[in-house]
Parts: sequence; structure tokens; C-alpha cells
Amino acid sequence: MANCLFCGIIDGKIAAQVVYRDERVVAFKDINPQAPVHILIIPRKHVAGVLDIAPEDNGLIGTIFEVAARLARENGIADGGFRLVVNSGSDAGQSVFHLHFHLIGGRRMSWPPG
Ligand code: AMP
Ligand code: ZN
Repeated sequence: MANCLFCGIIDGKIAAQVVYRDERVVAFKDINPQAPVHILIIPRKHVAGVLDIAPEDNGLIGTIFEVAARLARENGIADGGFRLVVNSGSDAGQSVFHLHFHLIGGRRMSWPPG
């Protein structure tokens, strides 16, 4: 989609540290990491957010969770623990409107989140 930052990363028009890509999913390092490991996992398909996930996207969402588990293992945070976070809307602080899952780990985290 035009004017979408993350579509620009998928298309290679905007630079990013891509750590995983397949035919449906791309993952790259967050530009402003909140923990030693902070990776964003996104679908190649432009979906604005959680509220825009369609029934036909169910398989895609499952694949994103599989990629998250793989990247957690590859980045050494599977045993210690990690968070997989999706912000939705203004109260949650969503700032980019292309669905993305934050894979965050490598430090102790508190609960509830701020
Ligand atoms: P959210 O606030 O949940 O919408 O998350 C958006 C995330 O995208 C933030 O953690 C930003 O640091 C990250 N971000 C913004 N621009 C870029 C970029 N060009 N490359 C990588 N991550 C980015
Ligand atoms: Zn997009």
C-alpha cells in the first residue's frame, strides 16, 4: 500500500535490518529497541491492524506465531522467556498501521505493562 512505512520495508524501498523473510512474512529489527532483542514480525499482505484481520488471514496469523517461535529460539530468548505484543489503536500506542507483532526479550519484564 502506498505511503505505508512497513510496505516500503517489504518492497526494499526503506532500509531495515531484515532477519527473516518468506513468501508471506518478513521480520526486521525494531529501529528503537525496548530490549536486547526487539524484532517486528509482519505479514507481506497489508493489513492495517488487529481489527482488519479477515477470516482468510487465519493461516497467515498462525504462520506469524510459528516465525515468532523460530526467531525466539534463534535469538536465544526461548528459554528465558519473551513477549509477543500487538498494539491496537491509540490507547495502546499503535503508531504504524500495518499489522506487526513485537517479539521482545533478553531482559526481565514487569507486569502489567505500562
Ligand atoms: P507500534 O507503536 O506498536 O505501532 O510499533 C511501531 C514500531 O515500529 C515501534 O516500535 C518503532 O520503533 C518501529 N519502527 C518505526 N519505524 C521503523 C523503521 N523504519 N524500522 C524499524 N522499526 C521501525
Ligand atoms: Zn503496509
